[in-house]
Amino acid sequence: MGKILFTGACIITMDEEKPEYFTGDLLIEGDRIAAVSERAGAIERPRAGRVIEGRDLLLMPGLVNTHGHAAMTLLRGYADDLPLQEWLEEKIWPVEENLTGDDVYWGTLLAIAEMLKGGTTTFTDMYFFMERAAEAAAEGKIRAVLSRGLIGLGEGGEKALREAADFQRNWQGAAGGRISVTYGPHAPYTCPPDFLRRVMDEADKTGSALQIHVAETAREVEECKRQYGSTPVRHLHRLGLFERRVIAAHCVHLDDEDIEILAEKKVGVAHNPGSNLKLGSGIAPAARLLDTGVTVGLGTDGASSNNNLDLLEEMRLAALLAKGKAMEPTLIPARQALQMATINGASLLGLADVGILKEGFKADLIALNLKEPQAAPLFDPPAHVVYAAAAADVRFAVVDGEMLVEEGRLTGLDMEKIIDECNRRAERLTGRSLKKP
Ligand SMILES: [Zn+2]
Repeated sequence: MGKILFTGACIITMDEEKPEYFTGDLLIEGDRIAAVSERAGAIERPRAGRVIEGRDLLLMPGLVNTHGHAAMTLLRGYADDLPLQEWLEEKIWPVEENLTGDDVYWGTLLAIAEMLKGGTTTFTDMYFFMERAAEAAAEGKIRAVLSRGLIGLGEGGEKALREAADFQRNWQGAAGGRISVTYGPHAPYTCPPDFLRRVMDEADKTGSALQIHVAETAREVEECKRQYGSTPVRHLHRLGLFERRVIAAHCVHLDDEDIEILAEKKVGVAHNPGSNLKLGSGIAPAARLLDTGVTVGLGTDGASSNNNLDLLEEMRLAALLAKGKAMEPTLIPARQALQMATINGASLLGLADVGILKEGFKADLIALNLKEPQAAPLFDPPAHVVYAAAAADVRFAVVDGEMLVEEGRLTGLDMEKIIDECNRRAERLTGRSLKKP
């Protein structure tokens, strides 16, 4: 069993039973954290295995991305500065018609490469050709919660649902347990009530969770009220959707009653501040949701509406937006933003032993470089991570005990080849030539 010891590092565990941060040691054995010590040098150096000097490192749980469409990296920068419906209907959907399984495979690998280098060790995906996305996730050795995106308008809904069921059967628990599968009905406006009932029936056969876009734009809420006489949240609640574990992405436009329902039904919310800002959708009431007891995690959404997959940036945005929106600087303090990106994310994805650096938990962690100008002086490590650190500071990323980023470099993926493949595919799909192919 492989052993890795980080010694003398600044450690933020997110474990409520420990001090908020300390200088200490952390030992990994196999895929789990074997020991955490609040004293540097206290854990005996393993005879076989690696020892990493932690003097200039900040060790913390890997970041958990709770919403995205990984292969949309292929459309990064293809259609910017447009409102959501126009962006989706006129730009994205026509190109997606021509996507192949190979495109999804390479686009997902590009996303994984970017996420790992930026400190994300778990990602969530809702897309199609999901068998290929899962292959990419298995190869990239990242932790993944995947769903076949389901649209119930027109023909194709039933076929997609059958694919989703096959996907669940084939991939749930695959890649040494790193991959889990949920069902992904796209949104209330693309999934009529009868179709949503079919999805719930199918998901319940295996006790699977659901992920769905909810109340992303004001227009969606207005149309839902017109069509069903209620807000998207109340509409879904009435259909019984929240009787199982649900990850609701966005939740930008909510009223008081919606927020009460989300709290009472323990619906997890994936907050995507960057994507919501870029598409001009609005600012989700994240601080109020948290205050009301809703578990709120963070997501990047697809790279086509962000345009990166940088969860450190989303964490900072979440903290800053809450303060700026309410003109109240005490809202979403650094510690809470860190929780959103780690334990909250893991909890809403149903990953019980991820998101905390604790003995017995999965060894999913990252180490940030503290030997950078923006890390000095270091008075408060959590504040440093949220307000000053950058994706380029990630020196090590470990998933399931395996070192996937080492000294800032990917250990298992051929980044040059991935970028090359994705550039060619992006040109083919969009019919446009890149500035730098
Ligand atoms: Zn989305």
